[in-house]
Amino acid sequence: NQTCVIIGASHAGVNAAFALRKEGWSGPIVLIDGDSNLPYHRPPLSKAYLTSDDDISSHLLKPAVSYQQHNIELKLGVVVERLDATTKQLSLSGGEQLGYDKLILATGARAFVPPISGLNSAKHVFTLRNAEDVNRIRDAYNQLAAQNRCRVAVIGGGYIGLETAASLRKMAADVTVIERESRILARVTTAQMSEFFTELHQQHGVNIATDKQVEAIQPGPHGDIVRCSDRSEIAADLIIIGVGVRVNTVLAEQAGIQLNNGIEVNQYGQTSNPEIYAIGDCSYHHNPHYDRKIRLESVQNAVDQAKVAAAHLCGKAKVYDAIPWFWSDQYDVKLQMVGLSDDHDEAIKRQEPEPNKFSVWYFKQDQLVAVDAVNHAKAYVLGTKLIKTQQALNKANIVDASVELNLANL
Ligand code: FAD
Repeated sequence: NQTCVIIGASHAGVNAAFALRKEGWSGPIVLIDGDSNLPYHRPPLSKAYLTSDDDISSHLLKPAVSYQQHNIELKLGVVVERLDATTKQLSLSGGEQLGYDKLILATGARAFVPPISGLNSAKHVFTLRNAEDVNRIRDAYNQLAAQNRCRVAVIGGGYIGLETAASLRKMAADVTVIERESRILARVTTAQMSEFFTELHQQHGVNIATDKQVEAIQPGPHGDIVRCSDRSEIAADLIIIGVGVRVNTVLAEQAGIQLNNGIEVNQYGQTSNPEIYAIGDCSYHHNPHYDRKIRLESVQNAVDQAKVAAAHLCGKAKVYDAIPWFWSDQYDVKLQMVGLSDDHDEAIKRQEPEPNKFSVWYFKQDQLVAVDAVNHAKAYVLGTKLIKTQQALNKANIVDASVELNLANL
C-alpha cells in the first residue's frame, strides 16, 4: 500500500485527497497544511467573510467528519520545511520526518508584498490571503471605526483589491483604490470591463486612483500617509495590499523540479519528477483549448487539476482539458468569465434591457475564445458550451438583445 502525501490543504489539496479515494487509492493519504484551521473556502475571504463576524468554520470545504470517513489524515498547523526527492522524505515543522511514495504539491501562492518604504513600521497594513489575515483586518477595522477612523487605502486594483474595496464600503469605510496601471484589472481583463468596474465602484463612492505607484507609507498626524510616485498623498487609517501573489515553489526548488512561472506539469499534473505532481495555483500547465501554457488562480482550476492528478495516480488516463473560468462578486454584480480573452481580435457586447446585465463575447479569427458575463449566468453557460464546440456563430443575434440568447439563435 503506497502512501500519498499532499502538501497544501486548500481547494487543490483537499479535492485531490477526496478524488484519490473516489478513484480507488487504497493506501494512506496524508494532507498537510501550515494553516491550523480546518480547510476552508478562500473566495468568501474578501467577500462575505470580511463583512461578517463569522467564524471560518462556517466556510469549511468539508466537514471534519468527512476526513475520518475517507481515511484522510490531516496534519494542520504543520509546515513542510524540506523536501528530499532522492530519499522521498519530508521534514516537518516540529521535527517529524515523513516518507512518501507519491507526492502532490498543492502549495498555492502567497500574497506579494512590494518594496514600499516605511511599510514595516506602519501599524495597520495587511495582505489578504488566509482566514487569519481577514480576522486581523476585521479586528483592526472595528477598532478604528469605533474611533471614527474609517479611511481605507487598498493598494492594487485587481479582483481581490476590488472585492475588498466593495466589502469595506459595505462596512461604511471611506475607500480609495490605488492602482499603478492606467486602469484597474489591467492584468486580467479588457479595457471595456475595467471601465465598467471603475464606474461601478465610483457609483458606490469608492475613489479609484490610477497611474499611481505607491512609494512610501509615512506616519501622519492622524493615521498614515500613502505617498505615490506622482507626489500625491492619500491619508489612510487602514491599508490593504492586494498586488498579486508569488507562487510557493520552495519545496519544488529543493527537489530540483522544473520551474517556469510556477511548477511546470504535463497533462496529468506530473512534474519533471514523475513521483511528484503539482496542482492548483502553483502549477504551470498546458491548456489544449488555447494551445499554450498558463498558470491560473481560480478555484475551478484547482478542482479540475486535482481530479486529473488523482485519476493518473490511480492508473487512469484522464487528461487535463478544462476551459478556464473564474467568478468575482462585487456589490450586487456577479462577474463570470470563461475562456482566455487576452489575445482576442474582436469583442462584441450584448446589453440586456436591465442595467448591469450584459455579456462581452471575445473572438480570435472568428472563433469564440472567451465570454465575460455580468449578472448573466445564461451567457456564461452558453459561452462555455460554444467555446468547446467552436461552431460558427451568428454575431448579429448575439448583439441584438431582442433575440433570445439560446443555442438555436446563435
Ligand atoms: P491555496 O488556496 O493558495 O492553498 C495552498 C495551501 O498550501 C495554503 O493553505 C498554504 O498554507 C499551504 N502551504 C503552502 N506551502 C506549504 C508548506 N510548505 N507546508 C504546509 N503547507 C503549505 N477564485 C475564484 O475562482 N473565484 C473567486 O471569487 C476567488 N476569490 C478569491 C478571494 C481571495 C481573497 C483569494 C485569496 C483567492 C480567491 N480566489 C478566487 C482564488 C482561489 O482561492 C485560489 O485559486 C485557490 O485557493 C487555489 O487553491 P490552491 O489549493 O491551489 O492554493
